[in-house]
Amino acid sequence: MEAKKIIPKTVIVTGASKGIGAEIVKQLSQDNYQIVLNYNKSETLAKEVQKQLIQNGKKVEIFKADVSKREEVKKLIEYTLKKFKTIDVLINNAGISQVKLFTEITDEEWNTMIQNNLNSVFYCTQEALPVMINEKRGCIINISSIWGITGGSCEVAYSTAKAGINGLTKALAKELGSSNIRVNAIAPGFIQTQMNEHLTENEKKEIQEEIPLNKLGTTLDVAKCVKWLIEDDYTTGQIISINGGWYI
Ligand code: NAP
Repeated sequence: MEAKKIIPKTVIVTGASKGIGAEIVKQLSQDNYQIVLNYNKSETLAKEVQKQLIQNGKKVEIFKADVSKREEVKKLIEYTLKKFKTIDVLINNAGISQVKLFTEITDEEWNTMIQNNLNSVFYCTQEALPVMINEKRGCIINISSIWGITGGSCEVAYSTAKAGINGLTKALAKELGSSNIRVNAIAPGFIQTQMNEHLTENEKKEIQEEIPLNKLGTTLDVAKCVKWLIEDDYTTGQIISINGGWYI
């Protein structure tokens, strides 16, 4: 009998030149996934991640696209289909942060936040969906934040965008269940990446002391949950908060 050919799953990870996204790419590549690593500004970093993985025989393509712009998202999807013919998993990870008093946020800053952190999820998901609906399978994972659940002082715009992601996740999971497409979000607490580099060591220590597990999160903590969500097949519409017990 002819052996059944195992086709690797195709995954798009947005905003994966560094931090959580880069770690997700590294972890998934260990398991035979074929990946499109999206980046916007950090081309050198994206190329470094790709080079390291390709040297180890992994299938990783990189593609520059500003996911806050629909036209660029369309090109990202077209490129993925050209390279790998299908899209099985979409990980909406790209995001920016801003710490500022609510009273001082300008219209432009507010719009930039919503465009990058929420509209990007709308564009990527909408553009990737036709192929998933056609295949009657798919997995969408949105990287949200603890602040989208509980609200962060001096991070109102960020919290609003992430709360929007949570709403989108739940509603879309209901709409897409009959197409066998699962939609979930991961809402990390404090993860050690460049996003938090503006904090002093002392401020980080204070945060750590507020966390019941008494440690800051790592990119690997998030990547492990992503992997689990891809492999699972009965979880949808959930916001999974990886936060060491910081928010329960
Ligand atoms: P990071 O180290 O600052 O990385 C952010 C990534 O997003 C970069 O690769 C950046 O790419 C990309 N990006 C930003 N805007 C983009 C755009 N318009 N188009 C394409 N790529 C874009 O941050 P991180 O901590 O890994 O954050 C990743 C995600 O986790 C974000 O959604 C963030 O809100 C969320 N999160 C982080 C934490 C945390 O504590 N770190 C906690 C909760 C949630 P380029 O540099 O190439 O532009």
